[in-house]
Amino acid sequence: MKSPVPDYLDEVLDSLRDDTSGANADYIPELAEADPERFGMALTTTLGRTYAAGDADTEFSIQSISKPFAYAAAIIDRGLDRVLDAVGVEPSGEAFNELSLEGGTHRPKNPMINAGAITAHSLLVGAEAGQDDRVDRAVTFFSRLAGRDLRVDERVCASELGSAHRNLAIAYMLRTYGILDGDVPSVVEGYTRQCSILVSVRDLSVMAATLATGGIQPVTGERVMDPAIARHVMSVMATAGMYDAAGDWLTRVGIPAKSGVAGGIVGVLPDRVGIGTFSPRLDSFGNSQRGRLAFERLSKDMGMHLFSSDQGRLDAVDVSESRGTVTFALQGNIQVTAASELLDLMAESDGAADVVLDVTRVHSFSDVARRMSLEGLRRLRLDGRKVAVRDPSGVLPNPDLGDGSYPDAV
Ligand code: GLN
Repeated sequence: MKSPVPDYLDEVLDSLRDDTSGANADYIPELAEADPERFGMALTTTLGRTYAAGDADTEFSIQSISKPFAYAAAIIDRGLDRVLDAVGVEPSGEAFNELSLEGGTHRPKNPMINAGAITAHSLLVGAEAGQDDRVDRAVTFFSRLAGRDLRVDERVCASELGSAHRNLAIAYMLRTYGILDGDVPSVVEGYTRQCSILVSVRDLSVMAATLATGGIQPVTGERVMDPAIARHVMSVMATAGMYDAAGDWLTRVGIPAKSGVAGGIVGVLPDRVGIGTFSPRLDSFGNSQRGRLAFERLSKDMGMHLFSSDQGRLDAVDVSESRGTVTFALQGNIQVTAASELLDLMAESDGAADVVLDVTRVHSFSDVARRMSLEGLRRLRLDGRKVAVRDPSGVLPNPDLGDGSYPDAV
């Protein structure tokens, strides 16, 4: 049999192909000339499987979609504190090329608008780095995220540099406030090269899936960044990724995302998928028109809104008692909700019986849920109860009760 997922993606593209509203970006001459009919989409799961439809291997310049990934690299290279000193994390609600600086600190409001992204680019590698070092860093890092060697499109880069007056103005302004160090034209040129790296929607979906896993490239298995950095970057994408349409996007689509003027959009749903779309015509906010509609469909059809609560009520804890033993059976992925429930049911359980915590049907514990569950066992034992764990597949390895002692195994 053939998986229906690619067929579904084909159908989504077909249903939107007739929408020819919007227009290619024209302030970068090369982009104005791109074929506006191109339309592709790819989705990569955190298990590393990619599904693609339409022009999935067509390359286009990454443009602003480079911003979250370069920001991640800057945090890796310089540390979060240094990066936060230079660039804030507040949504600006303004267009991508707006020069919005925070009152007082003069920091750009966030790394998704050009002012913040140029600053983040300037922080790559280290204080002594030159333009080539920073561009190499971006190309190499993006290549690791995508799992293949990416390169800069020199024509697009030259085309944008010919009219980069606004970005130069932004960067000179940042330089006067001491937010940006170094040679302004060289920083802007490096940033423009970063924006000119060529990707396909397939690449974007894998890059985003690497954020979705918390930093592990799902195809190569390489850890590319710490989970805390992936989480930080996804948060900024959620609040500021879609510029002045960020609120509309988050409520309607609910997938942290970033768009680029070449017509790409990347989206990431933590623990689930990375998504890339490409269609060059842009809406009035500078986001790909058909790409936006494709994300809306996907979010609706596949229940992909970040805030959708489609898990239903979870009956995670089952309590049963027989012959002087009370068994607490857990199932699924145990998070703080189920662990809290377990602790209350343990507290309510009758005082004499032996206790078994049965985790046979558990897939995983979050760190805190694990500690909470073990603390429950420790307290029951302090009350004089006999405590044991049934864990045939080892989802609770090393169940130290916090005092160096262990429950019995049954
Ligand atoms: N290189 C473009 C710029 O700096 C990127 C903008 C975008 O994709 N929104 O203007």
